[in-house]
Amino acid sequence: MPAVDPAILTQSGNTGMTLKTYNVPMIYDLHTHTSASDGSLAPCELLALAIEHGVGVLAITDHDTLEAYDVIRSAESSPLQIVQGIELSTTWAGRGIHVVGLNLDAHSKPLLAGIARQSVARIERARKISRRLARSIGIDDPFESVLAIAGASAIGRPHFARHLVAVGVVKDTRTAFRKYLGAGKPGDVRDGWAEMDEVIGWIRGAGGTAVLAHPAQYRMTNNKLRLLLEDFTAAGGGAMEVVSGSQTPAVTENLASLARDFGLAASCGSDFHHPEQTWSLPGRFAELPANLKKVWELW
Ligand code: AMP
Ligand code: MN
Ligand code: MN
Ligand code: MN
Repeated sequence: MPAVDPAILTQSGNTGMTLKTYNVPMIYDLHTHTSASDGSLAPCELLALAIEHGVGVLAITDHDTLEAYDVIRSAESSPLQIVQGIELSTTWAGRGIHVVGLNLDAHSKPLLAGIARQSVARIERARKISRRLARSIGIDDPFESVLAIAGASAIGRPHFARHLVAVGVVKDTRTAFRKYLGAGKPGDVRDGWAEMDEVIGWIRGAGGTAVLAHPAQYRMTNNKLRLLLEDFTAAGGGAMEVVSGSQTPAVTENLASLARDFGLAASCGSDFHHPEQTWSLPGRFAELPANLKKVWELW
């Protein structure tokens, strides 16, 4: 993809007034979700919201699926530039790590085979989560109900959270994660995902850039994060999200300095899921710090 110059908006008219030129930086949002995974908007609704929020370049990065692109390929032409993407769940050193693939060929056979494997893993994992929740909470096995909630979407813990709210076990999805689904809780099943280096191979095999997603969310020490980044770059990872949704300037500065140390390009995205989560709306996040190679400059 050619580098996109900042959009230049020119205000002109036939009034004879001075011509004014404004430089408006192009907004890249390279991490968003739709109802093809655990987001609540249909792909076309997300495009409309992103345009409303001034996004110029958008990647839809659903969990382990490219299905949103089947819908938008047949949609009307839009002023948004779309970068094809995906967010893949992986395992690294026994931890769950998310890797975003950007600017990839959605027809790549090895990538599609990898995605097929991950979707089988999602179903198997959902069965396991169901058994564990049934045992630890003392409810009926929720598998069939959660499958119905997920419908055609890639099934994940947010669908379990909605079920636990629906049957009155918890008052909201946040509590569902805190008590039953989050790190270290019974529903936190991590096995089944492909290893991080293998997933990076699928993305690169599809001509894409592998991006380490939301590094601050793993709550690692900087030493641990450095070990992760060593393995990530050695496996062919090309970028990391230096800005993910709303985060403090101190976190951004730390991630920027790690990106520079490891020679990784910087990516940014909202990790948008739901319009009511006002802290992660499309295009609404801080600008990337200066002196960083931007991931889109690689394309
Ligand atoms: P899964 O794909 O099944 O591993 O589920 C992970 C997804 O759950 C993430 O992408 C988030 O959308 C969501 N999630 C993770 N932690 C929380 C939380 N504490 N509260 C609400 N949603 C969460
Ligand atoms: Mn999600
Ligand atoms: Mn993620
Ligand atoms: Mn995400």
